[in-house]
Amino acid sequence: NDHQLNYPSSPAEMSWQPFYPSFPATARVKFADIGCGFGGLLTALAPLFPETLMLGMEIRISVTAYVDARIRALRQIQGLLREGKDVEGNVKGEVVEGDTASTTTAAVVAAEEVNEDGATADEIREDKREAAENEHATKHLIPGGYQNVGVIRANAMKHLPNFFEKGQLEKIFFLFPDPHFKRSKHKARIITTTLLAEYAYVLQPGGILYTVTDVKDLHDWMMHHLNLHPSFEYIPTEQLLEANDPVLHSAMTSTEEGIKVERNKGQKWAGCFRRKEDPVEV
Ligand code: SAM
Repeated sequence: NDHQLNYPSSPAEMSWQPFYPSFPATARVKFADIGCGFGGLLTALAPLFPETLMLGMEIRISVTAYVDARIRALRQIQGLLREGKDVEGNVKGEVVEGDTASTTTAAVVAAEEVNEDGATADEIREDKREAAENEHATKHLIPGGYQNVGVIRANAMKHLPNFFEKGQLEKIFFLFPDPHFKRSKHKARIITTTLLAEYAYVLQPGGILYTVTDVKDLHDWMMHHLNLHPSFEYIPTEQLLEANDPVLHSAMTSTEEGIKVERNKGQKWAGCFRRKEDPVEV
């Protein structure tokens, strides 16, 4: 419901300081993960680009709350580690350091709320387990201490230009987007000709748009629309994989949805496109 969504009237109206308190107020978001779900991509990319601000955009309230809690907990643990404190208990879901919440506790509390959205108990259990497994990687100090990741509740299909200036983003991710299988629902898909104009607007020339899906029909749809669009040029997937591109690797393997597909031995399709320079007007 749109009337419940908060969004700025223009990017200049937006204050990012509360999202990234350890960065200067002038720092700008460079990576956007559209429909970030439970935040697996952000936590994977955070240490690889510790100086880069990255933002997850997610429409579901409780999922956004979950990611927010996860980021806070991860930062808290990094803070404890920096002070040389033991965080073993945290990762196991126990509370250490007095009233310091543990990541796992935060994750569990937030996952409880997901139920409002009608997720089944099984799904919630699976997501909790996923989150808990992911937290094992955080017992050591990581570059940036997760200060560079944030999440916001937003309808990315409507309000991207409200949040980002023209050419602001270096990378934009569409990972395992909702497939909308029915033909009558195809116009609700996150990659359409109209929406690609907005993605082209917020991406800087040379910036990259990443798509990954386990739905072949949706992959074909996204490739079709992206290939037709004058602002984008295809980057051969093999080229990125052969170069061991860590971003594409994370995009394919680090999200909760991607992990699920892997566990079920499902197939994944990736497609990456470079934002072209705008033609020079004569
Ligand atoms: N990218 C995550 C992953 O790979 O694990 C989540 C994939 S999930 C299938 C798709 C997500 O997109 C859901 O969490 C959904 O709430 C979110 N979503 C759908 N439409 C959206 C929109 N217009 N704006 C923001 N998020 C949206």
